[in-house]
Amino acid sequence: MTVSDYQTAPHEATRNACYLCAPLGASIAFSGIARCLPYLHGGQGCATYIRRYTISHFREPMDIASSSFGEEATVFGGKDNLFCGLKNVISQYQPDLIGIASTCLSETIGENVPALIEEFRQSVDLGETQLVFASTPSYAGSHLTGFHKAVLATAKALAVKKEEHGGINIMPGMISPADIRYIKRICQDLGISAALLPDYSDTLDGVSWPEYHCFPEGGTPVSVLKGMGGAKASIELCRFSDPQLSAASFLEKCHGLPAYRIGLPVGVRAADEFMDLLSGYAGRPLPEGYTRERGRLLDAYVDAHKYVFGRKALVYGDADFVMGIGRFLAEIGMVPVLCTADKGGNLAGQAEDLLAGVEKAVVLEGADFADIETLATELKPDIFIGSSKGYKLARLLGVPLVRLGFPVHDRLGGARLRCVGYAGTQELFDRIVNALLEHRQDESDIGYSYM
Ligand code: SF4
Repeated sequence: MTVSDYQTAPHEATRNACYLCAPLGASIAFSGIARCLPYLHGGQGCATYIRRYTISHFREPMDIASSSFGEEATVFGGKDNLFCGLKNVISQYQPDLIGIASTCLSETIGENVPALIEEFRQSVDLGETQLVFASTPSYAGSHLTGFHKAVLATAKALAVKKEEHGGINIMPGMISPADIRYIKRICQDLGISAALLPDYSDTLDGVSWPEYHCFPEGGTPVSVLKGMGGAKASIELCRFSDPQLSAASFLEKCHGLPAYRIGLPVGVRAADEFMDLLSGYAGRPLPEGYTRERGRLLDAYVDAHKYVFGRKALVYGDADFVMGIGRFLAEIGMVPVLCTADKGGNLAGQAEDLLAGVEKAVVLEGADFADIETLATELKPDIFIGSSKGYKLARLLGVPLVRLGFPVHDRLGGARLRCVGYAGTQELFDRIVNALLEHRQDESDIGYSYM
């Protein structure tokens, strides 16, 4: 295996970026807190772009407020806009929390947002509304950086040391609402009280409403997040993200909670690790239903081995997603010939361990789709796994694309795609195998119906 043997050419510009904007990630993270309104300090266009992007993936309405900078705010600073915007949001929504994220514009003009927020706090009666700020210039990170910054800022602002309550904290990372629901179900079945930061399983994948609500149902309540300091431990499914942005590490340092930073639980081995951790904390074995899910998954591995063995895959997306999928592919005998993720994590150091024994795997940080095209032409993958942004290249190269991660704009159900745990792995495995079979059928002159 090689890590970054292929260096990308020095970029004068990113061409067809794989990664999205940092306040977008922050907005998604803030959406997983009950009665929280994401608020962008910057121009309205950023909020509009982010709303449009998230709505077309989650297919849910999403409110994001903005300081709505005009020329004057851009030149002289956006304090008046921020104060006016926050007051409007408080009077119209009465939120429990406003999650404020900066944009490229407010960061570029050097706005001291924390100082402005403090001044605002002193000048108005906030009542029960909490303000949390994450600095998220997009030129200093991807959507994943923004996501983790928002999670960390929330933990820093809210978690206080309380009486131990016997629960645990789970920071699931940027996974799908369906994956979050699965994790909640395991905790429920094991009798574990878990504070999820964030939990957008309902807020971004809810039921239809007969009438408008200011906030969708769901999300982790602020009162629960305040108790995070009294938990038994924190489990973060973010082994490859920047350790400086780890909320679990922060809680360990400030409140003495053991922090487990583990990989995404995709595949039998990784899911075992996660399930064992949870069952250890619960002090009881996993219910029988999960053992059977695991058994069915192993059976499917055996059944489909002939279809997947030795097939080459190209995986792109967020670091934890990419390495989780890469490890799973190695487990089922496929070759993740190219794993490419956003920059800023600690991928290179750990990729060697994780993909040990997988020859010909290339791990690359910070590539764009132009780089991926160059490498894909050489490495000739049989399948792409990643967001729908890879569709154009997959189509050009004539290989199937299994959509997973964020965003999925050209299919319905991006929010319902699962990959974690035994059941999520099963669904992903079936989709990969069927994509390979379907491709063989489509390419065949004869059109086998029995494969
Ligand atoms: S200007 Fe920056 S913050 Fe705004 S949408 Fe573009 S990348 Fe995101």
